[in-house]
Amino acid sequence: MRRIYMDANATTPLLPEVFEAMRPFFLEHYGNASSIHQQGQFARAAVDHARDQIAHLLHCRTSEIVFTSGGTESDNLALFGTLENAAAPAHFITTSIEHDAILRAAAALAKKKIEVTILPSTPQGVIEPTALLAAIRPETKLVSVMFANNETGVIQPIAALAAIAHASGALFHTDAVQVVGRLPLDLSPKGALKDVDLLTISGHKIYAPKGIGALFVRRNVRLAPMLYGGSHERQRRAGTENVAGIVGLGKAAELANIWLAEDSPIDGPTHLTALRDRLEQGILSQVEERGVNGEGAPRVSNTSSLYFDHVEAEALVIALDLKGLSVSGGSACQSGATEPSHVLTAMGLSPARARASIRFSLSRLTTAQEIDEALALIPAAVARLRDLSPTWNKTTLIPA
Ligand code: PLP
Repeated sequence: MRRIYMDANATTPLLPEVFEAMRPFFLEHYGNASSIHQQGQFARAAVDHARDQIAHLLHCRTSEIVFTSGGTESDNLALFGTLENAAAPAHFITTSIEHDAILRAAAALAKKKIEVTILPSTPQGVIEPTALLAAIRPETKLVSVMFANNETGVIQPIAALAAIAHASGALFHTDAVQVVGRLPLDLSPKGALKDVDLLTISGHKIYAPKGIGALFVRRNVRLAPMLYGGSHERQRRAGTENVAGIVGLGKAAELANIWLAEDSPIDGPTHLTALRDRLEQGILSQVEERGVNGEGAPRVSNTSSLYFDHVEAEALVIALDLKGLSVSGGSACQSGATEPSHVLTAMGLSPARARASIRFSLSRLTTAQEIDEALALIPAAVARLRDLSPTWNKTTLIPA
């Protein structure tokens, strides 16, 4: 059975161009980038080139890029690196819709006497600047708000939030794992994101491999390392560089830059937005008692989070999986958890509606034919599950 993959927010496919760029660094150019011989220097040059590619995508300096093992490590490094040694009293602000890499790090910091405030979300999934204005105070050392949510795709007003943090003397971090390559990001000193001090990226969300990522750390931001060892990454992240992974991340950043130049981004009429809207509208027109999570808010072009009342998302994910369609209910990073999504409940969805929500997330490789094939499967699968649901039968049998 040919499978259709609509779970790009969990992980994107590795692009052949990225794999080919990496291949020689496994087999031929295996030198350690810290060695002074030619093989080491070849690896060093490749790492430097990848750093250039990423800095070019983000409009920042190469010295501001720190390679890590992925989004989780970058998030932890941003928080622990700026807060763990902060002078007391130290206050940290984040939000109720963050990924667990932030929320669990915040819980660990709270145990180390860092006061933590969690900002609420609007029903649309937006963190409003007024909420930050109400919570920020002179002791606030860091504010961390994700750029776009992995479950709903809702884009946050990052420039405005970062400006508020800076006006109050706090640093600002954003987890941009779900927006790199989907929105233009300008971290230059006069760019739209000039007030962002730290920004997280992850390779496997932008068609590079798993286990590689980076943290943008603006010049002059003091960051304590979490790992102690060699002097790699200007003493901000010890450990022999994952040269092949770094080369892959650099290639993926180069490709992302090309796509951004081709598309008209910011929620505009991109190829992906058109496909996503075709899928979403197709489902909405064929299924009753359903809705879009985050409807009306700006969303990244590839993501659609939908609820289907009277359906258990887990059952729907399995039913679609058996038909060859890969989607996700809640966040895949928390797979195995039966709790309703903390993001959707923070937006005010009832636990039942949160448990009835499915995320469709398209990749650059998704085709119009796949959208049509998915549309032929989804309404039928929802109908079959509803036939088994006691609550659905009740609503259909009892006239309004
Ligand atoms: N942040 C967000 C918003 C994510 O979606 C993810 C992964 O799903 C992560 C962080 C973690 O990134 P990684 O899997 O590279 O550790």
